[in-house]
Amino acid sequence: MLKFDIEKRDGLARVGVIHTPHGNIKTPAFVGAATRATVKALTMKEMRELGSQAILANTYHLILRPGADLIKEASGLAEFSSWHGPTFTDSGGFQIFSLPDVKISENGVKFKSHIDGANFEMTPESSMQDQWKIGADIHMAFDHLAKSENYEDMKEAMERTHRWLDRCIAEHRLISAASTAGPVEQYLYAVVQGGTFNDLRAESAKYCASKNPDGFGIGGVFTAEGMSEMLKTVNSILPEDKPRHLLGMGQEPIDLFVGAEYGCDTFDCVGPTRMARNGSLYTLDGRINIKNAKYTHDFTPLMEDCDCECCKNYNKAYLHHLFKTDEITAKVLASIHNEYFIVHTVDQIRESILDGSFQEYKTKFLSRYYH
Ligand SMILES: [Zn+2]
Repeated sequence: MLKFDIEKRDGLARVGVIHTPHGNIKTPAFVGAATRATVKALTMKEMRELGSQAILANTYHLILRPGADLIKEASGLAEFSSWHGPTFTDSGGFQIFSLPDVKISENGVKFKSHIDGANFEMTPESSMQDQWKIGADIHMAFDHLAKSENYEDMKEAMERTHRWLDRCIAEHRLISAASTAGPVEQYLYAVVQGGTFNDLRAESAKYCASKNPDGFGIGGVFTAEGMSEMLKTVNSILPEDKPRHLLGMGQEPIDLFVGAEYGCDTFDCVGPTRMARNGSLYTLDGRINIKNAKYTHDFTPLMEDCDCECCKNYNKAYLHHLFKTDEITAKVLASIHNEYFIVHTVDQIRESILDGSFQEYKTKFLSRYYH
């Protein structure tokens, strides 16, 4: 079993440490989105220097290119990418169900590659086999994402997700038992579905908990307004002693505060670096668009008191110039700042839970950020 120590609790919120074969993750923590085994515009050295503790890659993207076998040949994701720290893989379900022309059956999903139209099939078993080859420390079970947000579709997708979870667990155990030459252990999270319906979320949390996986992903769609109720429902049911990952959330700082307050331990999101590449940058007073003409002569740092490489060395006028002239460095510096901002906001959430000032920090941060 994956070792997870809880150091402090405050309601549903907790501070802990996940012990993975590639090192520890102090939680709550924001995990870098390394979809194709790289965080866009950033090197792994830059990721380490900005304080990132772990990365999450995507199985769908990696089986298309370069292929799971090649990553296995390279001794796994951490070694292949030179990250060398804790790693997660998402199952690929979310991306596959978002493609056009997806054929779903009880066995699995048939789809065409978005790159060259080649035919692929993913089943719970093949997702587990591919994730073992990719070799991340923590894998996500292959889940069915509902095709619409109505109750019947959500319920059907949740029930299939549960049947597929049984198959994922069986396959995971089979591979684990057979991998005598495997240098390290790999772990499996069940994924809680149920969309925006709290009764389905409760049913899914109970089912996933009963299967005794190493941890839990919380996936699928939910609204920002409904998130705290949904997490309260789910995390009151999930066993306390196992880690929980909120899948794909973390673009908006408020989601990280709500997620941590209601018992989530790790988060991932492509939003911070995607926005950075578009010139949309976090500050404590909210997001700004650095391409705006008003920054042409602004020689102050992007954010006062930010210790990132971008804010320590460059000013807004320079960043504005880099974006206006479409220099690659614009994307690099902006990504360093946005990723640092989100990683450190979650680190601060951790510190505030530890010293009992979480509510104070949350109110202060959110009222300033969202005015
Ligand atoms: Zn900065």
